[in-house]
Amino acid sequence: MGDTVNILGVQVSTKTMAETVDTLLGYLDEERVHCVFTPNSEIIYMAYKDPQFAQLLNSADLNTADGIGVVYASRILKQPLRERVTGFDLINLLCERAAPDKRRVFLFGAKPGVAEEAADKLTQLYPGLVICGTRDGYFKEEQTPEIVEQINAAEPDILLVCLGAPKQEKWIADNREHLNVRVVFGAGGTLDGLAGRMERAPESWQRLGLEWAFRLMKEPKRIFRMTALPRFGLTVLLKGRKYR
Ligand code: UDP
Repeated sequence: MGDTVNILGVQVSTKTMAETVDTLLGYLDEERVHCVFTPNSEIIYMAYKDPQFAQLLNSADLNTADGIGVVYASRILKQPLRERVTGFDLINLLCERAAPDKRRVFLFGAKPGVAEEAADKLTQLYPGLVICGTRDGYFKEEQTPEIVEQINAAEPDILLVCLGAPKQEKWIADNREHLNVRVVFGAGGTLDGLAGRMERAPESWQRLGLEWAFRLMKEPKRIFRMTALPRFGLTVLLKGRKYR
């Protein structure tokens, strides 16, 4: 995985955004599947509680620090990450750089209709990029072989799997060896973001590390999930050093 920081058992890449994009462009030239996960504090806390999930995350080629909470945790552990590398920004930058080479992207996940809207947005933003297929994220387990077949038939270079955590990471791990793609992302709410179904925090809020507060304001029902954030912080303070 290259250089990493161990945060509560999860190996998080120390690469900057620019370095990560370059690494992914290199992956696109290699004929094998590369897995990229983008864990935030909630996901890392989930892995802390579930060692099997931690192992699954650590089987990735890259785990990037999706969110300021992960960066703060690395500072507490005195192995500071230089910046956050959010999945949304990373995917956009990769699409921008991959577009002139007419790279092919498959969008899998989110509610019916969302992936198609995200596809329109991506082709508008990055002329040259080929969105070679879409599929919504609501399916029965027995449909998985047919979904894998649909993806492989579309011959994508890049596959975004947006089913929420930990479902997307588990789906990727279970099907990795049957997928004929170069880079597969566990990409959470990226399709909703591209389709404009999820408002992102203004830049000033992002700079202040308050993206979580903005999200909570827009979706108050996330409060229960967000209790993982203080628990994550406290666990890093109390137990983080054990994992370094
Ligand atoms: N989602 C899906 N299938 C499912 C559950 C969720 O496609 O069975 C999609 C959901 O529509 C959303 C995305 O997964 O587009 C991310 O969901 P959520 O915001 O709950 O996850 P997060 O990224 O915040 O963990």
